[in-house]
Amino acid sequence: MDKKTKKQFEDLLKKLKQEKEKILAGFEEQLNSNDYNNSETSTYPYHSADIGTDAAMLERNTINMNKVMEEIREIDAALSKVSDNTYGICEICGDEITEKRLKAIPYVKLCLKCSDRNPKK
Ligand SMILES: [Zn+2]
Repeated sequence: MDKKTKKQFEDLLKKLKQEKEKILAGFEEQLNSNDYNNSETSTYPYHSADIGTDAAMLERNTINMNKVMEEIREIDAALSKVSDNTYGICEICGDEITEKRLKAIPYVKLCLKCSDRNPKK
């Protein structure tokens, strides 16, 4: 991969990270606005009917948050590979990952061949 292409992917990764961080901040804001330990609201028993829905929403948000955090970690790993000059190289076989695949998932770790063999990675 030439320097210019690598720079493009680096920019892409940085932009992607910013977007993910924005999403994460949005989730955190939502979680903070749903304060279940707020003693004021718990004094009103009729509010309890809403708790089920809120808890489900909270759980969904937590799952999404974890997913986004995981993605940010993968992006960070990819960015450190850019500085190590190992970006775009499959972690298993050491082959170059195609640019087409990197464009689809800039933080992908494995080439298509290895990814097919290791569906969990
Ligand atoms: Zn591979």
